[in-house]
Amino acid sequence: MYFKTREEEVIFLKKLWTGEKVPCPVCGKEFLEHLHKKAKKSDTEWKCPECGEIFRTINMLKELPEN
Ligand SMILES: [Zn+2]
Repeated sequence: MYFKTREEEVIFLKKLWTGEKVPCPVCGKEFLEHLHKKAKKSDTEWKCPECGEIFRTINMLKELPEN
């Protein structure tokens, strides 16, 4: 979990999937970009160009705690 609450993490994932610019929740210095730049829109992995953290959104969704 990168966020304190489940809601925050869900909002983060939704923003990524809808193509919004999302700042890195680890360092906050850069916007996340696709891990595979040439991949199609269905790509679900993002990376922070500043700190190098990789966000695998499918895994993050699976690991969300139940409320
Ligand atoms: Zn970062």
